Amino acid sequence: MSRPTLVQVDLAAVEHNLQIARTCAPASQVVACIKADAYGHGAPEVAQRLDPHTDLFGVASLDEALALDALQLKSNFLLMEGCFCEQEQREALARGFDLVLHNRQQLAWIGSADPAQTTSRLWLKLETGMHRLGFPPAQVSGLLDQLGDSWKERAVLMSHFASAEETDPQPTLDQLARFDSAAAGFDRPRSLANSAAILAWPQSHQQFVRPGFMLYGNSPFTGEAPAQRNLRPAMRFSSQVIALHQLQPGEGVGYNLRWRAQRPSRIAVVAAGYGDGYPRTARDGTPVLVKGQRALLAGTVSMDMLAVDVTDLPVVELGDEVELWGPDLAATEVAAFNEMSAYELFTRLPVRPRCLHLT
Ligand SMILES: *Cc1c(COP(=O)(O)O)cnc(C)c1O
Repeated sequence: MSRPTLVQVDLAAVEHNLQIARTCAPASQVVACIKADAYGHGAPEVAQRLDPHTDLFGVASLDEALALDALQLKSNFLLMEGCFCEQEQREALARGFDLVLHNRQQLAWIGSADPAQTTSRLWLKLETGMHRLGFPPAQVSGLLDQLGDSWKERAVLMSHFASAEETDPQPTLDQLARFDSAAAGFDRPRSLANSAAILAWPQSHQQFVRPGFMLYGNSPFTGEAPAQRNLRPAMRFSSQVIALHQLQPGEGVGYNLRWRAQRPSRIAVVAAGYGDGYPRTARDGTPVLVKGQRALLAGTVSMDMLAVDVTDLPVVELGDEVELWGPDLAATEVAAFNEMSAYELFTRLPVRPRCLHLT
């Protein structure tokens, strides 16, 4: 019998969530973002499942695309940071992958590539306010001219939002205005929307949308349950109760006895810790589901274990099922309680918990 700590990924949920993105942006093609091992959900399995339903896959780099080579996917890749050296760019072009061009170096390497030798499209990234990647919007015309006609015919204009999930619309309105005025007059496809913009900014949908977080069943909006957007959480991170203790007031739990019993208390020890990807910084009171019932984290998370105050639950026994996040406890809620991001919870999961993909 192996350790009961498990990450289950529901591939049918991922497919459902992609359809939600399509429903929100019915006129747009979809770039399904599967960078960082599909946000920790397993890129090979997710890619295989979504391949018939997506138009492109968004990855960070050539290596992420090449790692999926053996799957013989029909959908092409978009390398969203572009390439990191000329040799790599040559290989990406030879394979026909779509490339983001966001800096002068990448542009110079394109200058020495023959557009007739590839079907790759170039996604020219414009910096519209986030100050992460891209060229100043005023340079669009010059950049397209520099690329020359054959590349230009295959160029896509893109940008990325800094704050599309926030209630203050102003930063997004500013970015949209900068993008629209730069792109006006160029008859090229456009792409701006991440998950938050797919859900909240229809005017940003354009020709290509780029969902990531929502594909895995999460709402990007603070405090919003996935069901409010008809999204289905794809990941279930779970384990079991492996010890139970009765504590007297004043007795403590875990390293440094951070949590102290204020009353006679019952503590359940669960076989999952920071070595399994549960954040060590999680605070007392973080929600945990024991047999489907809410209980609260008690004490510092250990490498292999954590403890939960189950005093108020009717009966808890050894072997009871514990959900750390999943369909019944949103990862975004666990993250928000700890001032963290669920994007980070997912992407830093180690290989240690066993991972099962459910079809
Ligand atoms: C990761 C990424 C996305 C997806 O963002 P989500 O918030 O996860 O939907 C979109 N565009 C780019 C350029 C990205 O890097």
